[in-house]
Amino acid sequence: MSARPFAGGRLVIASHNAGKVREIGELLAPFGAEVVSAGALGLPEPEETGSTFAENAELKALAAARAAGLPALADDSGLAVDVLMGAPGIYSARWAGPAKDFGHAMKKIQEQMGEDSNRAAQFVCALALAWPDGHVETFEGTIEGVLVWPPRGDKGFGYDPMFQPNGHSVTFAEMPAAHKHAISHRAEAFHKLVAACFRPDGANG
Ligand code: IMP
Repeated sequence: MSARPFAGGRLVIASHNAGKVREIGELLAPFGAEVVSAGALGLPEPEETGSTFAENAELKALAAARAAGLPALADDSGLAVDVLMGAPGIYSARWAGPAKDFGHAMKKIQEQMGEDSNRAAQFVCALALAWPDGHVETFEGTIEGVLVWPPRGDKGFGYDPMFQPNGHSVTFAEMPAAHKHAISHRAEAFHKLVAACFRPDGANG
């Protein structure tokens, strides 16, 4: 079955992070989407009670779509480490604590991995586009890599200094932003979303 297309007009970005909203707005402007943030509409942030990235993206998108009476887009992402059974996973942001200290979070990962020679990990990004009637389309992107220690590079954010994508000799934090954005888990999820639900000439609907 083909995905439901976005019909143009206002699209709620179910995030209270202004940087994320601006970036998504720029990405979707060519497709006739006029983005408005959940924060600007005064929508409450639902609790992320799902057990997967997709479930959390879906519950955030559905809550925003129903509350606003408009289509809404949400994302959920994180780092899954093989030998830690997928941790920190959906708790990636929480591992950095209230101070958002990713130096601390990366150290915690390194300590828990111990001497294990399997350094494999993946970044995952789930994007959910929901409508007020409860319909939802979900897309996922992943990128496989290895975790280096010590961390290297000062670009990017979060766990980037520890993550070296397969086939590359630099970490995400050592790459120019444009390079990371061309190959990342988020880029893959966005490509799938746009291919399925958006028309390139702004003629959605
Ligand atoms: P969210 O914004 O609640 O989905 O939290 C995602 C968390 O996963 C972020 O706080 C980062 O810790 C981590 N994360 C997701 N994507 C990336 C990335 O591209 N680089 C580094 N860390 C990431």
